[in-house]
Amino acid sequence: MSFQVDLPLQRILDRIAAAAQRSGRSASEIQLVAVSKYQPAPKIREIVEEGLTLFGESRVQEAASKIPMLPNKLHWHFVGHLQSNKVRKALPLFELFHSVDSLDLALAMDRIAEEMGRFPRVLLEVNVSGEASKYGFSPTTLKASLDQLLRLPRLQIEGFMTMAPLTKDPETTRPYFAQLRELRDEAARDFGIPLSSLSMGMSHDFEIAIEEGATLVRIGSAIFNKAEG
Ligand SMILES: *Cc1c(COP(=O)(O)O)cnc(C)c1O
Repeated sequence: MSFQVDLPLQRILDRIAAAAQRSGRSASEIQLVAVSKYQPAPKIREIVEEGLTLFGESRVQEAASKIPMLPNKLHWHFVGHLQSNKVRKALPLFELFHSVDSLDLALAMDRIAEEMGRFPRVLLEVNVSGEASKYGFSPTTLKASLDQLLRLPRLQIEGFMTMAPLTKDPETTRPYFAQLRELRDEAARDFGIPLSSLSMGMSHDFEIAIEEGATLVRIGSAIFNKAEG
């Protein structure tokens, strides 16, 4: 891959690398998911031409119509709230579901995955901030449901995802990201499994999330709205 120095994308990659280095991690541990929701296929193609191949979408219908217009080599993750009645359509489109946000959804995905002969890779979304506007398991519900979730034969649960509250000062997000990491460490210890993925950090707060252990950052506006990059 070659990047031009003045591109916003290169600045983001540099900031990811610097945040990784500050926390004693390697930039290669962190995957950048370019969140391309609401972006038309030609805008996504521009970013593909800059070298990115991993994209995140938050609506099944929108993704289903854009993906066939873009190169086959791309990788797609689902990052939004998934309705149970869209699971059948979504399963073949996405390599990783970041946002399994309820036991009911997990049960539906497991059942439909079995019918379709699939083993979806998923993360569990945790509402660590407790904001009523956010989807996800509360930390308490997560702990109560985890045993059942990990027994679902079809779902490959690889870790946790969260969204921090929107604030002016990104530093205020740190405790939420730290809490997700601690929940993960505790669950990994209790169940003896790696749960190695932590999806946290968006345009405004990805550096803090990386310092707190993110392995996947989901960045939309900083990539696509170049003024913010
Ligand atoms: C839109 C979205 C993002 C990207 O947000 P930006 O602030 O534009 O970087 C990340 N994660 C989820 C779940 C989203 O819906």
